[in-house]
Amino acid sequence: MKLETLLANITAHSGIKDPYAATHLPIYNTATFDLSKQYGDEIFDYSRSGNPTRQALERIFALAEEGNGACCTNTGLAAVALLFESVLAHGEKIIVEKDCYGGTFRLLSVLAEKNKIHTTFLDLSDLENLEKHLKENKVKLVLCESPTNPGLKVLDLEAIALICHKHGALFAVDNSMATFASQKPLSLGADFSVFSTTKYVSGHGSITAGVLVSKDEAWNEKVQYYCNAQGRAQSPMDVFITSLGLSTLVTRIEKQAENAGIIYQFLNEISQISNLRFVGSPEHPQFELAKRQMKYTPAVLTFEMESEQRAHILMKNTRFIGQKVSFGTSDSRMEIPSLMSHASKKSSAGAENDFSNKTIRFSVGLEHPDDLKEDILQALKN
Ligand SMILES: *Cc1c(COP(=O)(O)O)cnc(C)c1O
Repeated sequence: MKLETLLANITAHSGIKDPYAATHLPIYNTATFDLSKQYGDEIFDYSRSGNPTRQALERIFALAEEGNGACCTNTGLAAVALLFESVLAHGEKIIVEKDCYGGTFRLLSVLAEKNKIHTTFLDLSDLENLEKHLKENKVKLVLCESPTNPGLKVLDLEAIALICHKHGALFAVDNSMATFASQKPLSLGADFSVFSTTKYVSGHGSITAGVLVSKDEAWNEKVQYYCNAQGRAQSPMDVFITSLGLSTLVTRIEKQAENAGIIYQFLNEISQISNLRFVGSPEHPQFELAKRQMKYTPAVLTFEMESEQRAHILMKNTRFIGQKVSFGTSDSRMEIPSLMSHASKKSSAGAENDFSNKTIRFSVGLEHPDDLKEDILQALKN
């Protein structure tokens, strides 16, 4: 089944057993289930350990990502933490692409402080160096985003998966920016796809949530066990809100990619802006790989202003383009990653931000591109 068909009616495809045959996902907003009065083959007792609404969405994510099980968590970072806790034993080694999300970096720092895991940050576009590290060290897990947030580096997931497996390491991809509408890490060889559904997947900036999808059913069982043990489960209401976003995901991604392409052309002509990065640009260093690996271009651009002060002035003067962290929402937004979403990477070992305080990340939404251009132009005049 094609993704569009799956997402157009997730209730029907989720296999949920609702006695009233509700045509949209029923919200079982309950802590407990009466054990003596349930019928059918699936029994639920407590919503932390299992909930029919959440289970329905987990089945959809497993299908959408071509995995064999998924676990929905209360934030994207909870899904990343759950990955580490499910996979890694105390003191094990992990390699992480150095251009990683600020929150992932902070989480790794916290775990390092407690000596729980040892992280090496590498540039994973250098495959030889990755292989060298894997040969010399016993590494349990390799994690990267692609495209990276906010560097917009595209990594060769198929090649990385092959190298990891050759050396006995597991490979996880943070698919927050591309989403499964664009790329399926598990089909490219990864063992896990982890992502924040706060971004494109829920799509309206109304919740924080995340998912961890496993290629192997056995791993998913372990993940579910840890999710219950640590109380990381997503609430039924957040599942429901995610389900509303899912039905329009592909259309939104397609339209936002188109808008971002228009805005890229427009920004390219503006003299106050430099170092414009966009995955859909033929000048992007991994343009060919991106075209091969992803169906759509993520609607995220980065660019530099003449100074930090100029960057602040631009964001202050826009009328409706908000100064907000996060990306992938229907509304366009700008932020300075080094001061906001990625501020935790300031004094990091090997994972420093390669962008300065005058770099803006621009997530392009669903507004009419003419209005976006006008808003930017009037902001630049001030
Ligand atoms: C936002 C983000 C996360 C964390 O997700 P939250 O829902 O904010 O907890 C993880 N990885 C990437 C790449 C992100 O952009």
